Amino acid sequence: MAKRQVTIRMYRQGLGDCFLVSFPRAGGAFHMLIDCGALKSRHYAPESAIEFVKNVRTLTKDRLDVVAVTHEHWDHISGFSDARAEFDAMEIEKVWVAWTEDPKSAAAKALKREFKKSKDAVELALSKMTPDPGTPLARFKESITNLLQFSGGVGMAETTSSTWKYILGRAPNLYCNPQKAPLRLEGVENVRVYVLGPPEDPDWIKKRLSKRETYDEGHPSFAAFAGFLSATDPNHDACERAVPFLRRYRIPSDAARGQEFFRETYDAPDQAWRRIDDDWLSLAGDLALHLDSYTNNTCLALAFELGDGGPVLLFPGDAQVGNWLSWQERSWTVKDADGERREVTGADLLARTVFYKVGHHGSHNATMRGKGLELMESPELVAMIPVHRATAEDQKWEFPYRPLWERLKEKARGRVLLADAEGLDEITQDIEAALTPKELERFRKSAKFDEHFVEVRVPY
Ligand SMILES: [Zn+2]
Repeated sequence: MAKRQVTIRMYRQGLGDCFLVSFPRAGGAFHMLIDCGALKSRHYAPESAIEFVKNVRTLTKDRLDVVAVTHEHWDHISGFSDARAEFDAMEIEKVWVAWTEDPKSAAAKALKREFKKSKDAVELALSKMTPDPGTPLARFKESITNLLQFSGGVGMAETTSSTWKYILGRAPNLYCNPQKAPLRLEGVENVRVYVLGPPEDPDWIKKRLSKRETYDEGHPSFAAFAGFLSATDPNHDACERAVPFLRRYRIPSDAARGQEFFRETYDAPDQAWRRIDDDWLSLAGDLALHLDSYTNNTCLALAFELGDGGPVLLFPGDAQVGNWLSWQERSWTVKDADGERREVTGADLLARTVFYKVGHHGSHNATMRGKGLELMESPELVAMIPVHRATAEDQKWEFPYRPLWERLKEKARGRVLLADAEGLDEITQDIEAALTPKELERFRKSAKFDEHFVEVRVPY
């Protein structure tokens, strides 16, 4: 039987994800768009999104069978805002989102409520930070502000959420749940889509997250901090709980300034180092990181199995530790074409992965080691990193994170494609050293660099 092939196109729009995955189907390919966005930066003009989406329109003849949106981060959805008119002109059959968007799910609603509270707290903390330029606090504020770029940036909550609503409103939603049977693609033969994450139990997400994420250790005060910030009345209970000393041991700052001792030892300009007035603001950094991982952990993570027990394409969105770990506990029973029942586990899908869309632009915390990349054993592995190094450098992020990148190159035997590369030059040495002449020829033929995207084809 002639081999079929899936075509994967990674768009080169900037630092963000936009993938067009096309499956062969009688009567015309099945097109799935997974995310469409880029971070705001000096390297990315929002108008350029229009060019990229026009390219999607041409390739798909204005029809997308599925738009899958992995999570509500700006670098995954900005295209739906910047190129809205282009999307308006397209027919979209179905929108796939994580179960956390299901309005009927009480667990989903609770998650959203909690998330909103934390988000408001970070924004409020930032608004209270008014550091002098060049001070450590100024740099700190800048780094949190940069982190918030993922959720659209400070004060952008409205735009991000209206963009999210737009795309979810374009077609009937499918709430993807890892506890359900694998999904099928309408009219496509023998391809199963396993929903790996997000985990269905929100407590479980948080538990894993707080255990594993180092910056989350020992911060039982998040709730109190959030309460403290949102309490406008200093006599408010939440505010009182967030203060480390009982009222009778405290001297209000105005009263303290009336005493010479405090004026000399705390208030004098050269005594600034003794004051902790702004130290509580540093908690905002932890909270911002927490918030970021939290959204990433609610990412829709998908594994496409091509043929019964065949090669797997892995699209984890920006899933972080908690999400990845939960895949290890997944199993599904499927019925193959020959009628045989087969058990499929998360680990098994990783072992058969031949294409890995690297999570979170190659950051240090979104590709699991032992329970992730190390389980990917296929000699056919190809990885794509949707990254724009110049943008990441501006933000002082190490994307891709060097040790991960090196290991990816070993596991994929050189075949690691970056969205901002101009061709194979950067990896020529690696692929020539690792691949047989035949494999090399096949890979060179399968990888294509276009002005708008980098493409690979996966046979099955
Ligand atoms: Zn991202």
